[in-house]
Amino acid sequence: MADKPLPTITDENRPFWEATRHGELRLQRCRQCDRYRYPIAASCPRCLSLDAEWAAVSGRGRVFSYVVFHQVYHQAFKDDVPYNVVLVRLDEGPFMFSNVVGVGNEQLRCDMPVTVVFERVTDEVTLPRFRPEDNR
Ligand SMILES: [Zn+2]
Repeated sequence: MADKPLPTITDENRPFWEATRHGELRLQRCRQCDRYRYPIAASCPRCLSLDAEWAAVSGRGRVFSYVVFHQVYHQAFKDDVPYNVVLVRLDEGPFMFSNVVGVGNEQLRCDMPVTVVFERVTDEVTLPRFRPEDNR
């Protein structure tokens, strides 16, 4: 079976992947306007400042939208269909594509509260995924 594609770790994104390896979600936060941003970028999409720090976020958010893939688009995922791809809006504002685990696809709902979980895939890569979070 084909290996699943993994993110390429670069100097720019290394702090993100080092944090997930340690069970932490860290995003860039602009030092000029305090806004968190994701995807990873050299400059702030709001104020264009290049000055940013890597700051831990709560890992909590809500399902903004989702799809369930039934079609095999990549051989490495042929045993996984049907699987979900979810757009999570983090409490800190940024959106992140991921998967929701620990729940049937038919139970997914927009606005469902979720919290991050970490799945170690290789020595270098630990992927952030999300699980439903009750009582929010
Ligand atoms: Zn900014």
